[in-house]
Amino acid sequence: MSTKRKIEDDYIIKVKKSILKETKDTEKKYVTTYKEIKKYFKIFNKSLFKEKLNTFNDVKIKRIIQGSGQCVEYLSYRKGTSFFVLEMIPKYKNKLEFLNTLAHEMVHLWQQTVMKDTGNHNRLFFSFKSKFKKLNLHLSY
Ligand SMILES: [Zn+2]
Repeated sequence: MSTKRKIEDDYIIKVKKSILKETKDTEKKYVTTYKEIKKYFKIFNKSLFKEKLNTFNDVKIKRIIQGSGQCVEYLSYRKGTSFFVLEMIPKYKNKLEFLNTLAHEMVHLWQQTVMKDTGNHNRLFFSFKSKFKKLNLHLSY
């Protein structure tokens, strides 16, 4: 095992431990904050995406009709560019649901910006399943 690999594995273990600790109380509702979104974006970018992700162009905490979060792509046909907005709901069942949702939406960002993929719940999306498991997270629809 190379030193670099060892350092990466140590980081994963450290993050997993902190997630386990942070999500212990499953009965406690979680109130979403921009600060925590920013904090965990950095942590997941490093532990799941090899720091390949650029941050969302914008982040919004708002009510969503369906689901607990979404990664919305806005296209400017005039400029030929697109930008990505992360939407998270104001309150989650517990912190684990918040973390699962954020990491889920980050996979969509990775699909669309790094891989130039559709961003559907396809094979590429679910290729993150075992990586999520290593952090005690769960990747689902
Ligand atoms: Zn999704």
